[in-house]
Amino acid sequence: MLGLMQNRPLLISSLIEHANACHPGTEIVSRTVEGPIHRCTYGDIHRRSKQVANALTALGVEPGDRIATLAWNGYRHMELYFGVSGMGAVLHTINPRLFPEQIEYIVNHAEDQYLFFDLSFAPLVAKLAPAFRSVKGFVAMTDRAHMPAIDVPNLNCYEELVEAQSPEYAWPALDENTASSLCYTSGTTGHPKGVLYSHRSTVLHSFAVCAADGIGLGSAECALLVVPMFHVNAWGTPYAGAMCGARLVMPGPGLDGKSVYELMRDEKVTLALGVPTVWLMLFKHVDENRLAPKRELSLQRVVIGGSAAPQAMCEKFDSDFGAFVVHAWGMTEMSPLGTICNLLPKHASFTARQRLDVQKKQGRTIFGVELKIVDGEGRRLPHDGVAFGHLMARGPWVTSGYFGDSEALLDNEGYFDTGDVATIDADGYMQITDRSKDVIKSGGEWISSIDLENAAVGHPAVAEAAVIGVPHEKWQERPLLIVVPKQGHEVSHDELLAFLEGKVAKWWLPDDVVFVDELPHTATGKLQKLKLREQFRDYRLPERAA
Ligand code: ADP
Repeated sequence: MLGLMQNRPLLISSLIEHANACHPGTEIVSRTVEGPIHRCTYGDIHRRSKQVANALTALGVEPGDRIATLAWNGYRHMELYFGVSGMGAVLHTINPRLFPEQIEYIVNHAEDQYLFFDLSFAPLVAKLAPAFRSVKGFVAMTDRAHMPAIDVPNLNCYEELVEAQSPEYAWPALDENTASSLCYTSGTTGHPKGVLYSHRSTVLHSFAVCAADGIGLGSAECALLVVPMFHVNAWGTPYAGAMCGARLVMPGPGLDGKSVYELMRDEKVTLALGVPTVWLMLFKHVDENRLAPKRELSLQRVVIGGSAAPQAMCEKFDSDFGAFVVHAWGMTEMSPLGTICNLLPKHASFTARQRLDVQKKQGRTIFGVELKIVDGEGRRLPHDGVAFGHLMARGPWVTSGYFGDSEALLDNEGYFDTGDVATIDADGYMQITDRSKDVIKSGGEWISSIDLENAAVGHPAVAEAAVIGVPHEKWQERPLLIVVPKQGHEVSHDELLAFLEGKVAKWWLPDDVVFVDELPHTATGKLQKLKLREQFRDYRLPERAA
């Protein structure tokens, strides 16, 4: 027997309709590429996203067409989020930090029809335009006065295009499984791969962002989206913001410490979201200018994901900012939220140090995501916080396959292999110990490079650290610690090893430490271990380390 409840489709257009009905006056604050701070409301975004839908229709855009963006976080990008997907087209957000050859590849692979871009990317667009095979026209996301002087075919001005249209538009009643947006993984190996989200997956994921044990976004919150809208849809926050009516603050191109700090202070931001690298820049600005964030800011929580939140970072946000770090894990293939590290009632009696030990874990799943860890043969491993294995995930906002790629991705239970290696404890807290390809295999056992890196960055003279496995005659592989010292600080090889002693198992201690000026990063700010391994290919461990 079927239930008799209404089968209303879960659509992205319904999110902005809801925001307009219930939170029309709530502000969206954007730092613009042109310079000034821009203020508008959910009501304005609602009106202009309908104008966008009319403009796209006038350009001949059909349902299912891919519309690309090369843009920072800002109100115009948000109008495209709702306008493009709302009308049934697919919003393809491009990460401008990818290599130009990768951008060329994905635009052609996605067969993008139009490309909307922020002024910062005009030179990039001009350079790549001749290589884009499917793009019929370009739209500069600015007004007439700021139009870039570039020579690309069919160049339009966003403000003219949108403002010429009527704000009357009836959103189509799409099937909720219709594709809504497309995001390519950064592709550390091989070509980037496209993850194609649907209206249904996006709306369900938004519920998870708003859930109390999720990110807990709500109408009382003023959220600073430092995580870019070209990076897994800013972790889904523009959609979730519309769902709950949170005030959103968009930093545009200003991701440096000073710009981020000023926005936090001036807009009374309560919740900020971003990857560890941006917070390091914020800390540097605060330290160099002897600022008093705890007194000057209203920050209460910081969501950190994309790579592991170092314990020292959680500690500094707590002590200097009075802000609680919510550690989260996910990936492009998971929309991205997989786990979130909120505390349980039993942690209330914990000391600050014990709490930090919980916070360094990537957290628990929210309803919708199921996780398992398995060994090399696909057998499930216990959730005891000790056994570590390949982390597998399934759920309604987890991918089932890549765009334009017929390769079967899921195991016989429908789980997707995340490529991460993790433990899960009895309370369900998951902790990433490595990427499958980065784990160090020593004497038949696994050493977690991430645990070693986290321990090393706890040293006050260490700015950044990476650990890779290097070949070893007897043990197969042994860890090598590569360190970028903080400016003006000095630390020796022996001091660092002594510092690590007691923090990790003795047989995990690196066999050598080398000092470098910088480490290679991917377009999304992750350490490029592949490159490091190449760089240290001919490196030989000291003899005594046998
Ligand atoms: P995202 O856009 O969310 O960074 P990517 O698809 O670029 O997603 O990368 C996902 C990978 O990033 C994960 O598989 C994992 O290896 C790493 N990652 C994400 N969050 C964390 C975290 N909190 N701790 C450790 N690694 C993380």
